[in-house]
Amino acid sequence: MTLSHKPGFKLESSILRPGTLSKDPLLTSPSQIAVLGSTGSIGTSCLDVVRKHSDKLRVIGLSVWQSIADLEQQVQEFRPDWAVIGDHASTATDTLTDHVRVFEGNESLLDLVASSDIDTVVSAMVGAAGLPVTLAAVEAGKRVAVANKESLVIAGSLLTHRARETGAAIFPVDSEHSAVFQCLQAGKHGEVKRIILTASGGPFRGWSSEQLKSVTPEMALKHPTWDMGPKITIDSATMMNKALEIIEARWLFGYAADQISVVIHPQSVIHSFVEFRDGAVIAQLSPPDMRLPIQYALLYPDRLPCPADQTDWMTAQTLQLLPPDFDAFPALKLGFEAADRGGTCGAVLNAANEVAVERFLNCQLPFLSITRLVQDILSHHTYDARPDLQQLMSADRWAREEASRWKP
Ligand code: MG
Repeated sequence: MTLSHKPGFKLESSILRPGTLSKDPLLTSPSQIAVLGSTGSIGTSCLDVVRKHSDKLRVIGLSVWQSIADLEQQVQEFRPDWAVIGDHASTATDTLTDHVRVFEGNESLLDLVASSDIDTVVSAMVGAAGLPVTLAAVEAGKRVAVANKESLVIAGSLLTHRARETGAAIFPVDSEHSAVFQCLQAGKHGEVKRIILTASGGPFRGWSSEQLKSVTPEMALKHPTWDMGPKITIDSATMMNKALEIIEARWLFGYAADQISVVIHPQSVIHSFVEFRDGAVIAQLSPPDMRLPIQYALLYPDRLPCPADQTDWMTAQTLQLLPPDFDAFPALKLGFEAADRGGTCGAVLNAANEVAVERFLNCQLPFLSITRLVQDILSHHTYDARPDLQQLMSADRWAREEASRWKP
């Protein structure tokens, strides 16, 4: 474990270990949940899971940024006690305010997640705005299903450290990390040799860096397997998405960066696997459908029928595994570097990448410059090994400013 010399870091997972509990004591029955970002793709998939298990899951709070019309429909169906609208809550109609207490802004979200009425928080807000709320849920000792990747990438050390102190249980929703978590049930923490994250390889799998020079935003916005927003789709094309996931895995599971590997798996059926020290490799397979990882996070340790698509084993299929091309996709190296160094690296990498992707989509940067920009800013930043939330936020701001000025 190469990181053990760093002061203050404990390489252990904040997730419930197999065998530690027969049933999560945090949960009431039914479990009372808040879904933050309820009209996004994770949010709506989550509500599908709630529909299927209405005897086990009850929605107490919903939050959206501005999608008031969609929120109205969700409120009518799920009848939560609270709804939080990020912005323009004054435009909420009587249909909404007659059924639910409506609050506005991030402060209200912090109150919502800390409420004693709630035992499970689904953090599915988009972008860095999800971090303070995810942290508040951890501070309040909740069961936190984290779909907001940025939270763990930016502040994984802080979140997992605080979770150990408050007793919060962090559950991954990202498909790869849910897979790893499921595979980890097969052994003890110290029996793991390495974690292998699978990657679809994106639309340019097999391309050389020479070929990648000519990639346009239009070309990069087509993803072969998952239907996602433009930011994640570009991250998948550069493989920066996998870099973020390497960092995420490092914090979620408490293994050092050199115990994490990436392999290319174009079919996105094997969601990741874990190699144990006896050589056994345990994998998790299922069709690409986020409702399975969401349900596992919400109902762990129980496995119940799921609304997600199921594998048809009577259809012939070929599953490929290929080594990644680190030269064509150097973002992967940055992911391992940031996971190894920890501290402010995740925040800087994430912020620089967000700006780079935006500049690429606005045709201000060529495709290959996305990763170059991130690498450049990561290597120039003032590293802090044990930042608090404010230091992470200021590293984030600094990286954004640098990234918007950066020239190829
Ligand atoms: Mg993923």
